Amino acid sequence: MSDCLFCKIVAGEIPARVVAESDTALAFYDITPQAPVHVLVIPKRHFDSVNDVTESDRGVFDDLTALAREVATAEGVRDSGYRLVYNVGEEGGQTVAHLHVHVLGGRQMHWAPG
Ligand code: 5GP
Ligand code: ZN
Repeated sequence: MSDCLFCKIVAGEIPARVVAESDTALAFYDITPQAPVHVLVIPKRHFDSVNDVTESDRGVFDDLTALAREVATAEGVRDSGYRLVYNVGEEGGQTVAHLHVHVLGGRQMHWAPG
């Protein structure tokens, strides 16, 4: 996906503050943090969203969760707690069409739909 922002970050064409990396996933700080810890974990391979991960590729979720947990540990919120969020599609609030999970922590989270 040549015009995808996050694919460009994976390719090193756009800079990002990388926190952690695995063979299949990359973690970097969100440019507009919503919490003291706000990291995005993305697959290196492009998927538009959760909706586009097929049965044969569903290991991607294991990879993302594993790296997100590594990030939570490295950022010191593993035990205090943190939130993992997938926004999906327009009404889900997804603004970048490359699959990603938000790692949010470092403050008390509240259930605030909307
Ligand atoms: P979404 O709303 O799609 O779930 O989340 C996209 C996230 O990407 C937003 O939290 C936004 O701040 C972040 N973001 C957008 N552009 C950039 C960028 O160029 N670099 C980084 N690090 N984060 C970005
Ligand atoms: Zn992409």
